[in-house]
Order: sequence, then C-alpha cells, then structure tokens
Amino acid sequence: MASTSEPPEKMMFQLALRRRGISDQSVLRAMEEVPRERFVAANDRDHAYRDSALGIACGQTISQPFVVAYMTEQLQLNREHRVLEIGTGSGYHAAVLSRLCKHVLTIERYRTLADTARQRLEKLGYYNIEVMLGDGFDVPAGAGDFDRIIVTAAMEQIPEKLLQRLEVGGILIAPVGPHHGTQTLVRVIRTETGFERKELVDVRFVPALPGVAREL
Ligand code: SAH
Repeated sequence: MASTSEPPEKMMFQLALRRRGISDQSVLRAMEEVPRERFVAANDRDHAYRDSALGIACGQTISQPFVVAYMTEQLQLNREHRVLEIGTGSGYHAAVLSRLCKHVLTIERYRTLADTARQRLEKLGYYNIEVMLGDGFDVPAGAGDFDRIIVTAAMEQIPEKLLQRLEVGGILIAPVGPHHGTQTLVRVIRTETGFERKELVDVRFVPALPGVAREL
C-alpha cells in the first residue's frame, strides 16, 4: 500500500481553502505547515481539518480555518512585520501568522489559555511568538507600535487607542459588530493622513471583553 506523509484530510483541507478563494501561496503554505490537530481539544483531533470553529477551554473557540486563512491573506504580511494579535485562544492563528512575519505578540485575557498556548507553541518550536496575559483593550505602551494588528474576538467598535498603535502604512483587521450575532470583518489601513476603512465579509466570533478574566 502506498504510504503518504500527508493524511488525506489535510489535502482536502488545502483544496477547500483554494476553492473558497484563498490564493496567496505563502498563506496556503503556512496553513499546510501548522498542525491544527495540536491546537484543538484532544477529543476533537479527528475533526481538526474540518472547516469549522471548535470549542476550547474557558468557553472560547479556535477559529474556522477559512477565516484564519482569509484574515491572514488580508494582512499582506512580510518577513519584517511586527504583528499584534488580540485573542490568543489556542495559539493556532498566532502560529500561522508567525510563519509569515518577523514577530507576533499575542494577548489573551484568560490565564489558562495564555499558559496552555505558550507551552504548546514552545513545544512545537514557534520561537518568534510572545504570549502575554492581558487586555487587548489596554495594550501596554512598552509593547510599542505594530505593522499589523489582528483582532480575533468581536468588538462593538474599534477603539481609537488601538488604531493609534498602528504604524503608518499598517493594516488592522477586526470583526466588528454586536457580541451575539453576526459581525463584519473590517480592514483599516493607516495612511499618512488618516485611516481608510473597508468592510470585507460577515463573520461570527466570540466577544472581546474588557479586562483580564477573573476566572482562570
Ligand atoms: N485566535 C484564536 C481564537 C480566538 S477566540 C485561535 O487561533 O485559537 C477569541 C479569544 O479572544 C478568546 O480566547 C478570548 O478569551 C480572547 N479575548 C476576548 N477579549 C479579549 C481581550 N480584551 N484581550 C485579550 N483577549 C481577549
């Protein structure tokens, strides 16, 4: 029997992303390289390459692969970029981003998720990611400004304070809309003179909540 290094579901996964319109080869390669089965709950391993969000600890979710690929493609990353992610969750999206940029700072408000993601990413050898326990609505000034900002939890609006952390020429992507319902993925580009805003597609994310979580 022929043995292949890639399980068939992983080939289907790539095909599905292409079919849905992901065309950036570097994004497709990053999606292929990152082992999603290592980021989902143990009893969801068999579903890791389905195109759906899955539950993780603390009532949160690992995003749907298509949405991860689409948001990543929209960020137009290069190897020099410093990226901020708000909403580490499982660490999966941070891992994908890290293949395409210089450094990722990812912030998570649940200690359990931040600690688990940090250990997982270290074990898998993603050395250009820093996982921080904190509040994405209040990013420490010491973290500096960013070439790209990606928010992976729904915000009712994009805080002005966050936009100010974007370098000129920088891009921010965030799901914007009501916490419970459909949101719109919004892309903001910072220009020399201001901000250009574009609405992309409808999405559903868990809510972005203020403050570090009091529960673990
Ligand atoms: N990107 C993740 C999925 C994120 S789910 C992945 O690839 O798995 C959204 C995450 O955002 C949740 O873990 C939630 O706890 C976190 N979150 C919500 N509000 C936040 C805030 N203000 N600061 C930091 N993280 C936040």
